[in-house]
Amino acid sequence: MLKKFLTCFTLMLVLTLATMTAAYAKPAELTGIKAFELDNETVRIEISYRGGKIQDGDISSDFSLDNLRVELNNTLPGRVNRISGTQIQGAARTLIEKVLVNKIAERKTSIQFHFKPVLENGGVTVNLEPANRSEKKDARVVIDVKKFYAQDELSTGDFNGDGRVIVLDPGHGGSDAGAIGPSGVTEKSVSLAVSLKAQRLLTASGYQVVMTRTTDIDVAAPGVSDATELQARVDKAPPNAALFISVHCNAFANGKANGMETYHAPTAVKGARLARLLNEELERLGGLNNRGVKAARFYVMTHSKCPASLIELGFITNPREEKLLASDDYQQKLAQAITNAVNRYFNQGGFD
Ligand SMILES: [Zn+2]
Repeated sequence: MLKKFLTCFTLMLVLTLATMTAAYAKPAELTGIKAFELDNETVRIEISYRGGKIQDGDISSDFSLDNLRVELNNTLPGRVNRISGTQIQGAARTLIEKVLVNKIAERKTSIQFHFKPVLENGGVTVNLEPANRSEKKDARVVIDVKKFYAQDELSTGDFNGDGRVIVLDPGHGGSDAGAIGPSGVTEKSVSLAVSLKAQRLLTASGYQVVMTRTTDIDVAAPGVSDATELQARVDKAPPNAALFISVHCNAFANGKANGMETYHAPTAVKGARLARLLNEELERLGGLNNRGVKAARFYVMTHSKCPASLIELGFITNPREEKLLASDDYQQKLAQAITNAVNRYFNQGGFD
């Protein structure tokens, strides 16, 4: 009887000690989640932590089309419980819509990444790398998410424009440089370069593209009134024009102003749809801060005979965006965004 009790007691003690040891191994405290674009195809997510260890066996993940759920054993949510602990930077915002951090058990944290529909036609590969402990900073769990844009499906060969006439209007030109960036990049050169690239893509998709200008000129003449110059652009559209897209860059006195926006005339239903599609594609491929779809009474939109939109690609007065807008690669992305938006305009909803 006594011996049995002792055995039982010993076993209990061992169990208690084991439980205590596990309980006292210090859990890691999550200190931040950062997501940024590593290259054109990859968004890197870094989960940083301190105060404990996360080992390979502590990490599990589950991926579905628009959701990545990562569970970390032996962790406390720490300060990432607050919104301020997560940073989604630049182009990563085109991929990640939402991050949800939850304590799901005593020492278990779940982090859910909700992706935007850009992943619709693709897959994602997730690499879980063990933390880099050689750094003095917080240790990290690194997850690479490969993007596969729906762009593939919408690329030039896939949609036939059936000869529809698209008017592209590169803003400004000739005597009018438009806005000028801090390092001297002009709005007229960016609007022309992007429009010419879009002309090539749209033509390859079977559209007929009419340009209001293809070189550095005033469309009416130097020195005429704004209305005369802008009317000359509207007049370039033939009677059978299907869409009119005017391409511009934004400017502001404060160089910190940033982002992209698209416009339509106030009561223009089709123009609003065009502006929305342009906005979605520019956000998806350009990745700048999205200032939204807005109504305004810009001359070329209110005088156009066909659905029209004016797009502001970014702030040329913002040093970072000026650099992007001047880059050939980035211009190509914007041209692709315009092309995708036009394809979607005719591909969806049975308009026109
Ligand atoms: Zn402009």
